[in-house]
Amino acid sequence: MPSEKKPVARGRCLCGGVSFEVTSEIPDVTYCHCKQCRIWHGNAVGYTGCRTEDLTFTSDTTLKWFSSSEKAIRGFCTECGSSLFWKEKETPFISFTAGCLDEPTGLTSKSHIFVASAGDYYEIDDTLQKFDGDHTELV
Ligand SMILES: [Zn+2]
Ligand SMILES: [Zn+2]
Repeated sequence: MPSEKKPVARGRCLCGGVSFEVTSEIPDVTYCHCKQCRIWHGNAVGYTGCRTEDLTFTSDTTLKWFSSSEKAIRGFCTECGSSLFWKEKETPFISFTAGCLDEPTGLTSKSHIFVASAGDYYEIDDTLQKFDGDHTELV
């Protein structure tokens, strides 16, 4: 009999209509500065993620997926508007915002991606790793 995996992280939207558990260790936080994320979230946003099979929705009554590009979908709550998920259609990984996780997360920040697309109204002046485009080791 397979042993039940205990969740190592839990996340939720503002109203609780969307909540989830993750049963694998999750990587430290990467900040995405791409224009899509800055429109979607209001600014650069910190993401972590896991394999799709390690994430279980404990509530998805208000979850909606939006096809934001040919290769990716984004998940949000139709009730409170929290934007939580980014998922590349063809990969077995799902990204979610670090901000929606219950604390303590046990995470630190590790990198910035799409810094070439960063807004012209702020500086990225910390010592984290920086990548002009995507970073395949995000999850
Ligand atoms: Zn909600
Ligand atoms: Zn992005």
